[in-house]
Amino acid sequence: MQGFNMGRYLPPDWDPSKINWNKQAGKSHALGNRASKLSSQGSLTVRFETPFNIWCSHCNNHIAQGVRFNAEKKKIGNYYTTPIFSFRVKHSVCNGWIEIHTDPKNTTYKVVEGGKRQSEPDPDREGVIKIKDPEEIDRLENPFAKLEQKATDNAEKSQHAKRLDELSRLSDRMWEDPYTHSQKVRKIFRQEKKARKEVEKDTEAIRDKHSLAITLLPETNEDIRLAKLVDFSDGQYMKAVDEAHSRPLFGEAEKVVEKSIRRDGKPMLKKDIAMKQSKERLQRDLRRSTRQKMDPFLQDTFDSSRKEQDGADVGVWLKRKRSRPLLSNQDTSTAGNEEVAENQDAPASVVQNDDKGSGPGLVEYGSDSDS
Ligand SMILES: [Zn+2]
Repeated sequence: MQGFNMGRYLPPDWDPSKINWNKQAGKSHALGNRASKLSSQGSLTVRFETPFNIWCSHCNNHIAQGVRFNAEKKKIGNYYTTPIFSFRVKHSVCNGWIEIHTDPKNTTYKVVEGGKRQSEPDPDREGVIKIKDPEEIDRLENPFAKLEQKATDNAEKSQHAKRLDELSRLSDRMWEDPYTHSQKVRKIFRQEKKARKEVEKDTEAIRDKHSLAITLLPETNEDIRLAKLVDFSDGQYMKAVDEAHSRPLFGEAEKVVEKSIRRDGKPMLKKDIAMKQSKERLQRDLRRSTRQKMDPFLQDTFDSSRKEQDGADVGVWLKRKRSRPLLSNQDTSTAGNEEVAENQDAPASVVQNDDKGSGPGLVEYGSDSDS
């Protein structure tokens, strides 16, 4: 029930002229418990927030700016007409008392007891409103001092006028042709925007390619240098190593296919030369793969290098099917290899070696798992 009594019960025999409202409501003061020390000590309990970082001198602990305390607030004096208040707080860590006063003269607070401000402020810092001392005001009332002050002010005035004139001329010069300046600025902006767009496009392409959901930083010279040091091998390297291992130590030189004359006296056709080259290549590969399988000294090196590359022993070498017709038509007189010559009569798919004791005797060609 809202109304004059604010929803409180007032007995019918209550007389406001004899007993006041708060006493009637059971309160000793209008401010309640906060005013419990008001009559005895003259202090009111308020919520106080430390205005800066403080070192407690009782326990040497740090109290950060903005920590809240229940403080006993008391008026202790005046600076002109501005009251000076004292706030006494109890440090919850050591139960030591810290007293802080307002400082209207310097528009700040000062710790007067039980603590120390972390760093004292510079009184000449920018943004501080200075209020002159009464002594200083008295000094300025002196006619000689007034005259001196006037001379100083005049000197300052002429100096400032000179500077103002400079600034004014600079401003005039900068704004004499706004169109040209604007044109220049817009031109630079367009160039930068174009470059920025290109970088953004490249970055977006990289993000898209690698499905990256992170922000990429711009490329630096160091990145370019490091990227150039990395070589992504395409497998040709291991093949070259295998070939070098399996080549005969004192082998014959690579045969150069000269423009030979056929037996019937006519020059060889391009087709014949290509066939001859293909045949020689096949013979070379055959000799190499046979050597890889048969040479007991080569076996270990070759197997370990293959294992390093593939993580497993690949075993028998597989050849492409299209090599088969050439093999069957092989001319023994040009082969120049005894092992191949001995197995000339064997089927094209299987080349069998006589010496079974020195290694795997079967080299299969034309497998179905050709790849
Ligand atoms: Zn303390």
